[in-house]
Amino acid sequence: MIDKYGRNINYARISLTEKCNLRCVYCMPDDVSFNEYENTLSLNDYKFIINGLSQIGITKIRFTGGEPLLYEGLSEIIRYTYEECNIKDVAITTNGIGLYDMAYELYESGLRTVNISLDSLKEYKYKSITRNGDIKEVLKSISRCLELGMKVKINCVLISGFNENEIPDFILMTKFNNIDVRFIELMPLGEASKIYRNGYVNIQDVISQIDGLYKIESSENSTAKYYKLEDSMGRVGIITPMSCSFCSECNRIRITQNGTIKLCLHSEEEYDIKYYLNKPLIFREVLKEIILDKPERHYLNENKVSDTKRSMYQIGV
Ligand code: SAM
Ligand code: SF4
Repeated sequence: MIDKYGRNINYARISLTEKCNLRCVYCMPDDVSFNEYENTLSLNDYKFIINGLSQIGITKIRFTGGEPLLYEGLSEIIRYTYEECNIKDVAITTNGIGLYDMAYELYESGLRTVNISLDSLKEYKYKSITRNGDIKEVLKSISRCLELGMKVKINCVLISGFNENEIPDFILMTKFNNIDVRFIELMPLGEASKIYRNGYVNIQDVISQIDGLYKIESSENSTAKYYKLEDSMGRVGIITPMSCSFCSECNRIRITQNGTIKLCLHSEEEYDIKYYLNKPLIFREVLKEIILDKPERHYLNENKVSDTKRSMYQIGV
């Protein structure tokens, strides 16, 4: 559906769980515990929501988390989305741990695109950023997904002093593999606000200094801008929520595992939809009304962030 600002809202990201088997330093504290945790939404609730989304013009769904591979009903929910709701663009964003064994079943269910997070190509650095993840598992999963013919995109969050020197290696991966590597700017959300001031890298600046990359037009409605090396099989993407806002093209909404809708990643505001679950006659109208509230843009620009963060650091937060 078209929102108040003329954007075609056709993409939903659905969080299936808050749990994760890694503890990336910019995402989760080391000691977070999920023992008490249970999803508010049942598998049937998710299905009801996805059905509603398909009726208001959502044509792309990405399952995420936490770590979506930990969600028991993942394969079933992908199949439901693909077959029953006729949404053919089904993707997941995953850390790739355990995907090697699950890939075939997920592919059979309708999964065609996987975004796999990988912030370093070096074993010891991967271990340290993920607090003990095994890069071999991830590389194995990438090969398996390529073998099955899935579209594979690597997400790499750039962090100053950590992985900037690996940019050429990541770019080289696109030369010989049909893989897109996307560099993402660190956002000062949650844990990342502790490292943002020293860790932020302006990717647009970095990419413009790399020889041999040329910009290409992309037919996808994507927040990434794409580049290519001469004769490369894959592409290099940049996702720059901080240095270059893409709000005017933002076509997405988020569904949380607690049964709320977030219209903007950078807003605290959430709309509770639990009350409307299993009330099909009103659910669609409620969804439309909520989406009409999607803000024109976020106000989290770099200056504002550094000001608020500076005062937070001063008071020791
Ligand atoms: N566990 C899955 C994974 O790691 O791909 C899915 C969830 S994770 C939150 C989704 C993506 O957000 C990952 O690519 C991760 O690197 C990225 N991410 C998490 N925190 C971020 C931050 N503060 N700034 C930029 N990207 C972030
Ligand atoms: Fe887990 Fe993904 Fe967060 Fe890393 S980025 S801790 S893999 S949810």
